[in-house]
Parts: sequence; structure tokens; C-alpha cells
Amino acid sequence: MYAFEYEAASSVDAAAGAAKGGAKVLAGGQTLLPSMKLRLSDPGKVVDLGQIASLKGIKRDGNAITIGAMTCHADVAASSEVKSAIPALADLASHIGDRQVRARGTVGGSIANNDPAACYPSAVLALGATVHTNLRQIKADDFFTGMYSTALGDGEIVTAVSFPIPKKAAYAKFKQPASRFAMVGVFVAQFDSGARVAVTGARSCVYRESAMEKALSASFTSAAAEAVAVSAEDMNADIHASAAYRANLVKVQTSRAVAAAR
Ligand SMILES: Cc1cc2nc3c(=O)[nH]c(=O)nc-3n(C[C@H](O)[C@H](O)[C@H](O)COP(=O)(O)OP(=O)(O)OC[C@H]3O[C@@H](n4cnc5c(N)ncnc54)[C@H](O)[C@@H]3O)c2cc1C
Repeated sequence: MYAFEYEAASSVDAAAGAAKGGAKVLAGGQTLLPSMKLRLSDPGKVVDLGQIASLKGIKRDGNAITIGAMTCHADVAASSEVKSAIPALADLASHIGDRQVRARGTVGGSIANNDPAACYPSAVLALGATVHTNLRQIKADDFFTGMYSTALGDGEIVTAVSFPIPKKAAYAKFKQPASRFAMVGVFVAQFDSGARVAVTGARSCVYRESAMEKALSASFTSAAAEAVAVSAEDMNADIHASAAYRANLVKVQTSRAVAAAR
């Protein structure tokens, strides 16, 4: 690890001011600290968000659930509000990493980091969530811009995420055995306006599977999902799985998610 300056911010404005010019904000540290330890990241200054109470918490907001950016995965998994309104989101959070990771890792850190195999980005995209920052509101379709990159500007801080409540939804993750990240994870959501399907782990960034959305908007059934041809183009190929294997998994996991949706 390279040497760095540490500051615990007392407010979002103070954190945003301190986090400019290459400094990094610290949330649960589950990704930032390992990458600093491996000298893959050298921020020079770390601004801790842990003391800012307004960044934590879960509330029902009309027809949406709003989750504070510093809310840890374990709290989302255990939340009665989330379990009753969007059980698929509580289920997703309950299968992230292991107990230790869930006790520290946060929703804000997960989406700001935008790991290609992370779980939360698929929920944000499939549910058409709104990402609140200290400066603005960003629609899910505009937030994830590429591998480990998002629409966030320098020093911009995610403060909360609002998830619209669907008619039904589910997340089906085929996990990478060692890390439990998604080899392929599919989040499906059904709204009055139609179905949304987001896939993580399969490409360099989370994406919406439009052919699946068209089929499931017409018929929200596993049979409809299984009838869709999924192209292996742009799919990841690595020691864990070939592109063709992942393309097939997208279909299998979508079908499983539709069957499990509630
Ligand atoms: C062993 C292990 C297994 C894991 N398995 C999974 C898994 O199965 N599925 C999964 O989805 N994830 C998994 N993770 C990742 C985990 O979910 C992390 O919690 C998450 O990636 C980062 O969240 P964090 O709160 O720890 O953020 P940090 O590590 O503190 O920060 C991550 C990055 O986001 C930035 N950041 C943090 N908060 C904000 C904010 N509010 N606004 C702007 N930028 C911010 C930081 O500056 C940093 O660049 C795993 C991690 C480990 C170590």
C-alpha cells in the first residue's frame, strides 16, 4: 500500500469538498482497501463516509424504496421494508460475497465501483432506479458507462438509490465459486409498462438484454425466455467460462429468474 492521508468527513458537502483531485471516498472498503493493498490504487487521500448518518437507512417513498448509499448489504438483506416491497432485492443482497463482506460492503460503493460481475448494478438497471448524488439525480440507463466506470464526476458522491417497486421481480445468479461474484447474474422485473432484464457478469459492463425484454413483455414466462436467441458476441471469455457458455447461461438464468419472480 502507498502512503495516504486519511480524513473522516462529518457531512456530504465536506466529503465532496475533500474528495476532489484524485482523492477517493471510503465506504465499506471491501474493494478500495484490497486494491490499495495490491498497489492497484494510489489515491493519496482517503475520505471516510462512515460518520455521515444521513447516508444510511432504508425508507418507503411512495412507489419506491430509497436506500442510503452507506447502507450495508446485510441491512438491505434483513430489511422488512425491502423484503415486503422488493423481495428480489433483499435476496440479491443476501447472496453478495460472504458474511464479512455483507457486514461492511455498501450499495453506494458497489454501484460507484461498477465491477463487471457485481450484483447491485443489475438491480439498479432492471428496476429503472434513480441514483441520487450530492449534485443531481441520474437515471439508471445513464449511470453505468463501461468497465469500472460510471457517469459520476470528480468528487461526486452517491447519496442514495431509489428503486421503483415492480409487480414482480427476481435475481438469478450463477456464481463464480471462489469469489461468489456473478459468472452470469440476471435480474428480471415486470412493470405495467413491460419487462426489464439486466445482465451482469456476462460482458464488460452490466447491460439490458433487449430481445429478452421484448419477449417477456409479450409473455412473462420461462418458455418465452427459452425461445430467445442470445448472441455470444461481446460476451466475456475467461478461465471460468467461454463466451458461448455465458450466452447460454443468460438464457438459463433469465428463465430461472422468471420462474422465481414474485
Ligand atoms: C471476498 C469478496 C467477495 C465479494 N463478492 C461479491 C458478490 O458476490 N457480489 C457483489 O456484487 N460484490 C461482491 N463483492 C464486492 C462488495 O460488494 C463490495 O462491497 C463493493 O464492491 C464495494 O463496496 P464498498 O462499500 O466496500 O466500497 P469501497 O471499497 O469503500 O469503495 C469502492 C469504490 O467506490 C467508491 N465509492 C464508495 N462509496 C461511494 C459513494 N457513496 N459515492 C461515490 N463513490 C463511492 C470508492 O471511492 C471506491 O472507488 C465482494 C467483495 C469481496 C472482498
